[in-house]
Amino acid sequence: MTADRPADLVLTGGHIATMDAVRSWASALAVRGGRIVAVGPDAAVGAHIGPTTRVIDLRGRTVTPGFGDAHVHPIYGGLVMQRCELHDARGLDSYLEIIATYARTHPDVDWVQGGGWSMDDFPGGVPSRLDLDRVVPDRPVFLSSRDGHSGWANTRALELAAITARTVDPSDGRIDREPDGTPGGGLQEGAMALVEQLLPDTTAEELEEALGTAQAYLHSLGITTWQDAIVTSDPAVRSAPIVPGKEERAYVALAGRGELTAKVVGAMWWERDWGLEHVDALVERRSAVSIGRYRSTSVKLMMDGVLENFTGTMLEPYLDASGQPTPNRGISMIEPAVLEVILPRLDALGFQAHFHAIGDRAVRESLDAVAAARRVNGPSDTRPHISHIQVIHPDDIGRFRGLGVVANAQPYWAVHEDQMDHLTIPFLGPERATWQYPFRSLLDAGAMLAMGSDWSVSTPDPLAEMEVAVNRIADYDRGGRPPFLPEQRIGLMDALAAFTMGTAYVNHQEHDTGSIEVGKAADLAVLDRDLFDRAAGAIGETRCVATFVDGAAVYEDAALEG
Ligand SMILES: [Zn+2]
Repeated sequence: MTADRPADLVLTGGHIATMDAVRSWASALAVRGGRIVAVGPDAAVGAHIGPTTRVIDLRGRTVTPGFGDAHVHPIYGGLVMQRCELHDARGLDSYLEIIATYARTHPDVDWVQGGGWSMDDFPGGVPSRLDLDRVVPDRPVFLSSRDGHSGWANTRALELAAITARTVDPSDGRIDREPDGTPGGGLQEGAMALVEQLLPDTTAEELEEALGTAQAYLHSLGITTWQDAIVTSDPAVRSAPIVPGKEERAYVALAGRGELTAKVVGAMWWERDWGLEHVDALVERRSAVSIGRYRSTSVKLMMDGVLENFTGTMLEPYLDASGQPTPNRGISMIEPAVLEVILPRLDALGFQAHFHAIGDRAVRESLDAVAAARRVNGPSDTRPHISHIQVIHPDDIGRFRGLGVVANAQPYWAVHEDQMDHLTIPFLGPERATWQYPFRSLLDAGAMLAMGSDWSVSTPDPLAEMEVAVNRIADYDRGGRPPFLPEQRIGLMDALAAFTMGTAYVNHQEHDTGSIEVGKAADLAVLDRDLFDRAAGAIGETRCVATFVDGAAVYEDAALEG
């Protein structure tokens, strides 16, 4: 085979994981006009090299399709990167040091904002205002937890929000209290809004800058496509979901300037008190904001909270610390009867449902809603997916395939760590604790699997996440605690597929990206080693050295050609 016109780019001498239907391997590929024009052995692809072709000698490195993240919050992650960032810290002392430094170096911000603290660094998972008061006594401080479900406020912030011993807990949240009833600084779920409503508005410029920061960071990890798991409507017009919120405006702004290099689907946040009349407004909003590489075609349905603060929705009650059943089965955030009316309408209008479901009842209610849509509409191509899927009742594993629901897994959480061992397992009891993150069972039952990070909740590095999917041991705890439910480990090929074709499928992009095949977009991640050679070190130690979108380098490390 000879090429009629030379390629723009040729990668040669590597291990190319094409992730096509048989997961074939090649050593070289050629790109022209942003598309892949050849994949195969070096000699065959070499025919595409001309005088103007950029040729990269991979020297045995791996090339994969650009990674996808099926559930991520990039704008929030970018904002946190620009604010008081605690994700990489561990323990109260190190948090307080970072907060004190941030406050000292940012004397003119009215509110110290940021987040990333972990519940397991505090007794009972609850932080105290008094610790914050020691380092920032004069200005309000509000920091969200790593999972975004809790807030940590200092005394000044609680005063400004007028939260006192007499303040009643909101219906969808909890104010943590000291023994005499005084608010202690921890705010769970809906109670966070009591302080959040006071925070200064983030400007459009800050949001666009955050998106740009996040995009550059995600590209540096090999990520070329994602689903933004929450884009909100304008809070000033909550009753009118047609008005796009700040996140969509940031995407549209970057796309309009040609600066959106990632391929993105946004999941529009569904307010729990919305009804059928709001569905139609979303149609207009979808067409208004879908430009360039950005589309709002998904709807985010928050079914429950999280297990650690007992807001995950369970079929059977949580246990107390002595192992006895409590009255609490968690909060159903969207009424199932309402959902079974709304979902068929969304599905009929071509919207994808993106569920957040942690507890086994939330998972079941999500599947039931899809079943209702199937009953009304028959099969559709909307590709509903359920994120997090922490606890799945064994009876529901097989329903994913039958209903065509994609399991959207965050594999990085499937490990023994303090939060799992001390705040989750004891309150589920021994049987339900083994129903967590059942990725092997889902695959064995024929379910489609996509993966993502939920960044900034946890690292967006797909290679670190793949290591955990394969080993069920945290990458920061190698050689430490034993694997978590090792029978649920999956192979590296399956994990890689979930981060490439799986996510492309969820985003309706599998005809364009997700595998390295002739005719597809040249969306590629070049890794620094032979990923499948275990003698080359841990999976999560692998680094991305270059990332291409439509054949253009969006990230390149000097190591690529060094
Ligand atoms: Zn999320």
